[in-house]
Amino acid sequence: MKIGELARRSGVSPTTIRYYGGVGVLPPPARARGQRDYTDCALDALRFVGALKRSGFTLSEIRKLRELPKSEQTSAKWRVLAMSKLDDLTQTISELRAAQATIEGALDCACDGRPASCTLIAADSRQSPAIR
Ligand SMILES: [Zn+2]
Repeated sequence: MKIGELARRSGVSPTTIRYYGGVGVLPPPARARGQRDYTDCALDALRFVGALKRSGFTLSEIRKLRELPKSEQTSAKWRVLAMSKLDDLTQTISELRAAQATIEGALDCACDGRPASCTLIAADSRQSPAIR
């Protein structure tokens, strides 16, 4: 199928599909009379990329996953990468919860830019005492 059909069926724009090909996230398509000619495998690959992106994986990490050999070691290597990503997500969630608490603690701030009376700075100090 041509890139337009792949885009329509996958919901991923042609520009993004070409970009994914360029950075090695998608395998290079065959060429038919100079045009990219995708198979249904590309559709599956785009579903895979979408699921990984929504799970927090970067394109660089997705490329590494794609490069894993289809062997008995693959599931073990996937598990290592997935556990590492879970650690990253846990850290990010913790940081976002702290940011949320900081903002919630400063909703009624009326300091007019005076740090000494700023509840945002006070709330931030409570959330991130190590940064002082
Ligand atoms: Zn303030």
